[in-house]
Amino acid sequence: MSIIVENLIHVYNQGSPFEAKALSDISFTIEEGEFVGLIGHTGSGKSTLIQHFNGLLKPTKGKIYINNLDITNKSIKLSEVRKKVGLVFQYPEYQLFEENIYKEVAFGPTNLGIGELEIKNRVREALELVGLNLEEIADRSPFELSGGQRRRIAIAGVLAMKPEVLILDEPTAGLDPKGRDEILAQIKALHKKYKITVILVSHSMEDIARLVDKIIVMDNGKVALEGTPREIFKRAESLEKMGLGVPQMSNLIRKLREKGINIRDDILTVEEAKQEILKLVRSKKNA
Ligand code: ADP
Ligand code: MG
Repeated sequence: MSIIVENLIHVYNQGSPFEAKALSDISFTIEEGEFVGLIGHTGSGKSTLIQHFNGLLKPTKGKIYINNLDITNKSIKLSEVRKKVGLVFQYPEYQLFEENIYKEVAFGPTNLGIGELEIKNRVREALELVGLNLEEIADRSPFELSGGQRRRIAIAGVLAMKPEVLILDEPTAGLDPKGRDEILAQIKALHKKYKITVILVSHSMEDIARLVDKIIVMDNGKVALEGTPREIFKRAESLEKMGLGVPQMSNLIRKLREKGINIRDDILTVEEAKQEILKLVRSKKNA
């Protein structure tokens, strides 16, 4: 599913002393099947923006089109939109409430009014997608699990809805490196398998650099930059001005270039850096 955002403005508590403009005149397009990384300093408007994509927040002004359907139109049934657009909140594990894991993951699909067998299949598959086994954990309480596992349960609950757009707000926040890598690998695999549109909000430039097709950089309620990871991470100075970093490899390459070493300026990963440095060393030897 594609998403088009047109001149979106969001003001919290408009007309009150607590009025706060969180989004000012944002426009961009996300294509069907794209994997998009959304980055930006805390308070730049990322969470506000994504909550517009399933109608949880209404624009103060502007339009949102999902598959060319204007979801800001009053006649649109938001329950239909929410079937297609799955949103995993930040720290979703705090929103678990059912007595066992089966019921927790089945909650969304049960509300869709589908049959018992189909629900069970969906729960099984959703749990598998996050690396858990239905038979092993169906009857356990979510509260017996570790924080990382509870988060997977929450993500599985959204996946069981079979969304066509999956939005994750800082899904790895607070996890240890292993938990973080596992969840990201699962999201990547999911995107590959089902070709769904994925929007990943993240603080980790490393993760964004190796996962996404396109990056949208938010700054102070606006889209500051938009482009492929290679395009965006070349702009180290602009990013630093916004309080953002670049992947470690981009930094290393920048330092080498500052020392006059002629190396490609759009390197993102350790592997790429290794290849390029080897090339340079070899060409020097032959010279
Ligand atoms: P991010 O997710 O990038 O950290 P947010 O979308 O949470 O940014 O916040 C954008 C701006 O909107 C911030 O200035 C924040 O203080 C403000 N804001 C967020 N939620 C609310 C709210 N419920 N009421 C009032 N202001 C809010
Ligand atoms: Mg946020």
